[in-house]
Amino acid sequence: MTTKRHRHASGLVLACAIATTCGLSATSQAATSDYPAVTQQRLLHAESDSGWLMYRRAYNSNAYAPFKQITPENVKDLKTAFTYKTGLKQGHEGAPIVNGHYMFITTPLDHLVALDSTSGKVLWTYKKPLSKRALKTVCCDVVNRGAALFGDNVYMATLDNHVVALDAKTGKVQWDKKLQDPGVGYAMTVAPLIVDDKVVVGESGGEYGARDFIVALDAKTGKQVWKRYTVPTPNEPNGDTWPKGAYKHAGAPAWLTGSYDPETHTLFWGVGNPGPWLAKLRPGKNLYSDSVLALDPDTGKIKWHYQYTEHDTWDYDGVNHSVLADITFKGKRVKALLHADRNGWFYALDRTNGKFLYAEPFTKVTSVTDHKADGEPIENQALYPDVGKEIFTCPSFLGGKNWWPMAINPKEGLAFVPTLHACMTMKGTSVAYMAGLPYLGETFKIKPEPGSKGWGEVQAIDINNGKQVWSYKSKLPWNDGMVATASGLVFSGSIDGHFMAFDGKTGKVLWKSPKLASGIIGVPTTYEVDGHQYVAVMAGWGGATPIWGGQMAQAKAVADIPRGGELYVFAIK
Ligand code: CA
Repeated sequence: MTTKRHRHASGLVLACAIATTCGLSATSQAATSDYPAVTQQRLLHAESDSGWLMYRRAYNSNAYAPFKQITPENVKDLKTAFTYKTGLKQGHEGAPIVNGHYMFITTPLDHLVALDSTSGKVLWTYKKPLSKRALKTVCCDVVNRGAALFGDNVYMATLDNHVVALDAKTGKVQWDKKLQDPGVGYAMTVAPLIVDDKVVVGESGGEYGARDFIVALDAKTGKQVWKRYTVPTPNEPNGDTWPKGAYKHAGAPAWLTGSYDPETHTLFWGVGNPGPWLAKLRPGKNLYSDSVLALDPDTGKIKWHYQYTEHDTWDYDGVNHSVLADITFKGKRVKALLHADRNGWFYALDRTNGKFLYAEPFTKVTSVTDHKADGEPIENQALYPDVGKEIFTCPSFLGGKNWWPMAINPKEGLAFVPTLHACMTMKGTSVAYMAGLPYLGETFKIKPEPGSKGWGEVQAIDINNGKQVWSYKSKLPWNDGMVATASGLVFSGSIDGHFMAFDGKTGKVLWKSPKLASGIIGVPTTYEVDGHQYVAVMAGWGGATPIWGGQMAQAKAVADIPRGGELYVFAIK
């Protein structure tokens, strides 16, 4: 099967090189009325497409675009090409997805807006009807992280656990599939991933004792193809890593988009924290919480797993996304999976078999203190909280890095990692599972990291060894994702409302936008249409930090950030 896939893929590359009608030129010639169909072949080559076809641009999730029109030399001339106000005050965490002249943005409360990608003219708007009940078990603001494209459809996962397929040209609903009742612990904020005619999504619910899962639906019909629970039943492999019956309310959410390796036909999906937070109540390693799962995308069968934090009691969700990149490790080229975990460690695994290559701390780490030669995390058990026992540890449960996706420049061998320098106190409390209520068993306070120069940082990490290459320090937390371009730029936004371009080699700030309408937590993307390169991002402060950030969120500069979502698209014209 793998050989056949290879042959097919390289045939297309050749056809593109001869005809020059793939990607760039094909879509840039399209009129707004023509919607270029998103085939599996286009998704396989999304890295070189002129648009931005999926959440992290390509299946390897590196968010690295081949564009060179905006350069370190001319980025100072970047100007606003157009803007669009969403009219919503909550957190805007979505990534603008672009196919030719069509841009799709998702907003808080699951609105999906199609706009002309060169003018911002609204083509259509869809608003998912959401009941009050649907918002009952949403932990971290009513966010949505983005749409997915396949064929002539655009797909969105919703807070009330539906996946909707809409006609990309008109917004007309093609199908609407309910995965789960709302209100009992589940919600979805994930940008779906399309793999081989299937829409793959994962459920949130780690704070509510939901039994979470990843599901693949037929892209044409919405019919379920497979469903993979992230925690095994007692008679399945690794079911014995939990006490009897605990799997029913074990959390282990799958709320961020996975990555896909066509070469080995493997889907990689991150899994979050076990429930309840207080680990004493669930002796064992608690697989597959805080892990990456390597799955067969045809069946959902687990090929291998790696657990970043065992028996997690600090809410170190291992859900952060996996970037697939080849690295040089001990003198050899290795097909790696790279991941910056909430537990503060930057990991490289062999993505063909899950073997541990290295882990390096990218922030202060006192909970997971090191790793054994085989990669098993070593934890400071003196820092397990308990009823009547308060601990202080780093990083905080908001993570050395949270969901804010990193980008990688594979040519330079650098990962650009948004980082949070926060620690926490944590103390156990009594808790019992009740459907639809938080299932934590711990209280906490966010504290500054001792000795740090601020809450936030953007850092470049050498992907061959996990060591820091440059660092940009920020007094305020940095809660935004990254995009990298072939011209050597890195884009990301600050929560005080400045969208910025960094020199990817040195970290020098080469351009800073005027203050935007709100703080930036929307994931930036870049695309080319009609000969122009654009960079798009949504401003719209919100998300987890203001809700859960305690002392950090109450700091005046953070608490005063204005609310209100707005899309900004920049270009040099
Ligand atoms: Ca969590």
